[in-house]
Amino acid sequence: MAHQYDVIIVGGGHNGLVAAAYLGRAGRKVLVLERRELVGGCAVTEPVWPGYRVSTASYLTSLMQQRIVDELELESFGYVVDAKDPAFFSPFPDGRHLFMWQDEKRTLEEIAKFSKRDAEAFPRYEAYLERLARVVESLLLITPPPFPPSGPLDLIEHLKLLARFKGLNPSDLTGLVKIFTQSAADLLDEWFESPEVKVTLATDGVIGANGGPRSQGTAYILMHHCMGGVGGKRGLWGFVRGGMGAVSEAIAASARRYDVTIRTDAPVRRILVSNGLARGVVLEGGEEITARAVASNVDPPTTFLRLVGDGQLDPEFAAAIRRFRCEGTSLKINLALNGLPEFLAYPGAPGPQHRATMHICPSIEYVERAWDDAKYGRPSERPLLEMTVPTMYDPSLAPPGRHVMGIFLQYAPYTLKDATWDELREPFANRVLDLIAEYAPNIRSIVEEMQVLTPLDLERRFGITGGNIFHGEMSLDQMFVLRPVAGWARYRTPVRGLYLCGSGAHPGGGVMGAPGFNAAREMLKDL
Ligand SMILES: Cc1cc2nc3c(=O)[nH]c(=O)nc-3n(C[C@H](O)[C@H](O)[C@H](O)COP(=O)(O)OP(=O)(O)OC[C@H]3O[C@@H](n4cnc5c(N)ncnc54)[C@H](O)[C@@H]3O)c2cc1C
Repeated sequence: MAHQYDVIIVGGGHNGLVAAAYLGRAGRKVLVLERRELVGGCAVTEPVWPGYRVSTASYLTSLMQQRIVDELELESFGYVVDAKDPAFFSPFPDGRHLFMWQDEKRTLEEIAKFSKRDAEAFPRYEAYLERLARVVESLLLITPPPFPPSGPLDLIEHLKLLARFKGLNPSDLTGLVKIFTQSAADLLDEWFESPEVKVTLATDGVIGANGGPRSQGTAYILMHHCMGGVGGKRGLWGFVRGGMGAVSEAIAASARRYDVTIRTDAPVRRILVSNGLARGVVLEGGEEITARAVASNVDPPTTFLRLVGDGQLDPEFAAAIRRFRCEGTSLKINLALNGLPEFLAYPGAPGPQHRATMHICPSIEYVERAWDDAKYGRPSERPLLEMTVPTMYDPSLAPPGRHVMGIFLQYAPYTLKDATWDELREPFANRVLDLIAEYAPNIRSIVEEMQVLTPLDLERRFGITGGNIFHGEMSLDQMFVLRPVAGWARYRTPVRGLYLCGSGAHPGGGVMGAPGFNAAREMLKDL
């Protein structure tokens, strides 16, 4: 039977678009079906209030792979990033503050305010993380080797993998093994003494994580956040001009150049499978579209348990997908402001603090306590806040004199013990404003509009199961050869002709394009 397309991609998140662009570039006839009215998934810019354009979910870029930016010529389609400087601003309750700048000398002066020893250690720590991150980064754009290995050819692939580590000296090799299993707090304790320096660096270890800074595995998440860069400078994060949707729009424009068809408002109800072979999709409206292959940009539980259906799956595989952990603990608040927060620890506005990621989290113990609440099904009494003001770099995102501020928050567990998010949404958001007011008392007077996206709202709006921002926990037992499940980490699935191309596949979440890139490479071997 003649198919209408070579490949249908379910979901127009940035990874689905990357996969589509590479498949189109290789001459395949591709259709992308996105359920929402706009492409981008968790990388979107939305007109939440008149005159405002808001990165409703993701808000900063760093991980986006330079190879993809270059090959898809994203800059010619409007992809521009302003590197954040300063990187971080941490106000503390005792009135002190800490900045981290692009310029290392300035950062060391700041750290020395808290500890001269830490200032001496910082360049060595950065160089160490960079050496480890470089090795791990080289794994982002590869397909994980077959696991468990089942013959000499598979073993050769594992040996090739080991060869990537040969440049590391013995102590770095030890460090690499440790970083996969350590907590962020343990890693930082080895290097630093100042609680303020440690907590400023520890936040990267818990963003999106189901764990506190003392939970094993958070050191890896910390390193995960150091793997990218902006403008060739490793570890820098930046604001995308036009908001995060501009990343997705640039990828979509690149894909269209290769004749990829992108349909929005096109929710897929079912992936059609007959005799173990994917042969197309059915849309919510009943329209049936056929293809030689289907790639899902949607998370693994939704892909397999809802769109394919239990009946088409091997029971053991279905059980493994059901065990795939994907409950989130992150919450996002987007604000329209008629001014800027004025911090007691660094008065004045506007100032460099507003150009940085502003942290409300005074110590590692504070963050660990915040996690303790979440462990038992309660949103943190005093959460960790990461606040950004993209309008400091791109004023076009708001009317003149107005600002957008994003608050990314840990921890807000998807499953609550004694309440529902529909009940807690407003009181919790108010508690967050009260917390900010302890550091910046004018906050309430400058808020004009507020959008609160609890994990339940993230699930509803972006279609991510459990509101998990990475499509599934990034814990060691769900990474690399185990993502999403052992035996199926190579983008193919037990359903022939069905592939995974989203963050539920290696190397996981973040706006990096890597799962889409890798999936396209594997699909092109088969099609
Ligand atoms: C609140 C939040 C903050 C974040 N902050 C950052 C950050 O600052 N920087 C960073 O790098 N990462 C961040 N992340 C993580 C990052 O945004 C995601 O990991 C990444 O964007 C996921 O991309 P994806 O293409 O794999 O999937 P998604 O973006 O989830 O795309 C999947 C697409 O599939 C669509 N879809 C779902 N079901 C169907 C269906 N039945 N039919 C058709 N289409 C369907 C969805 O609408 C969506 O467009 C954040 C995520 C969230 C939620």
